[in-house]
Amino acid sequence: MSDLDQTIIGYDLWHLALPVVSRRDHGIGAVEGTCEIVVLRLTAEGGQNGWGEAAPWAVFTGSPEASYAALDRYIRPHVVGRRVGDRAAILADAARAVAHCTEAKAALETALLDLTGRIAGLPVWALLGGKCRDTIPLSVSIANPDFDADIDLLRRIRDDGVRLIKLKTGFAGHAFDILRLERIARDFPDFEVRVDFNQGLEPGDALARVRDIAAFSPAFIEQPVRSHHFGLMREIRSAIQVPLLADESVFGPEDMTRAVTEGIADGVSVKIMKAGGMGRARAVAQMAAAAGMTAYGGDMFESGLAHLAGAHMIAATPEITLGCEFYQAQYYLAEDILEAPFPSQGGKVTVPDGPGLGIRPDFDKLQHLANAA
Ligand code: MG
Repeated sequence: MSDLDQTIIGYDLWHLALPVVSRRDHGIGAVEGTCEIVVLRLTAEGGQNGWGEAAPWAVFTGSPEASYAALDRYIRPHVVGRRVGDRAAILADAARAVAHCTEAKAALETALLDLTGRIAGLPVWALLGGKCRDTIPLSVSIANPDFDADIDLLRRIRDDGVRLIKLKTGFAGHAFDILRLERIARDFPDFEVRVDFNQGLEPGDALARVRDIAAFSPAFIEQPVRSHHFGLMREIRSAIQVPLLADESVFGPEDMTRAVTEGIADGVSVKIMKAGGMGRARAVAQMAAAAGMTAYGGDMFESGLAHLAGAHMIAATPEITLGCEFYQAQYYLAEDILEAPFPSQGGKVTVPDGPGLGIRPDFDKLQHLANAA
């Protein structure tokens, strides 16, 4: 019997509330107090574990309750009792078992890959096809409605070596966005600035506001209007010189097909929580590259566990050339759930080389934070 013929005998879930250090506003909503995630642990008959995270955001992808129910009620019967090595078949059955719930499917694929890697003694990036990079440039988002607090964060991350920032716009008026862009350009010239509206603009004045922002020549402007406004995205793209990126408009490969056909963007945000896992996220990036578009590795409000999955995915995906946004574990959560710090230093994420994801969650922290949810 091959090691990967082992049966999956354990399937455990935790719904966690993770305290965060500040409020953050995005175009479609705010996060304050805590962010909620669901953690999955698989156990093989030999005793090895594999871990995965679902990190939903109710206004963007879905709710933590939906992630939990998808994993607990609809996906569990397709996993327990199956062989570890039958990952593709398990994922196909899970995809059919419940519609949407992409974060739950990402958690399942992550846990299956972590488990396979732990058993095989291989890092997840090796299971995805090998590594194209050892480190990933880190972008940190500036989204606090208290801009003075974000000035302190800008100084801190600059001193830490971060050189990419994303300014979240479209939540507190045009003048506030312009003021912050002027201040950052004047006082923080070391940063490459990216801008993300998170769908925050109304159709009537979106183009005029985006034009004003484009005058600052940010590296790109992301998702100014609602996800389904493909025609308006295309119109804005054709009216500005700055690259336009799609995020909420593109979840998985199916959306990417339409985005390419309709020419709505110059690049795309690739997230395992939107795509429904690493394999489908990589497909989105490959489709973008084939269409002459760029891609970066985005995330939701995640712990270091989901950051690890994203880091392994990007390590194995040369088409993702614009870095990653895995900053929450270090800069936004009051306390991460991993047993060792997420490997982010000097403005870049270092891809782990140990078996599986390389770092496990701390079991005591899970128990503590689950009781708080
Ligand atoms: Mg975005």
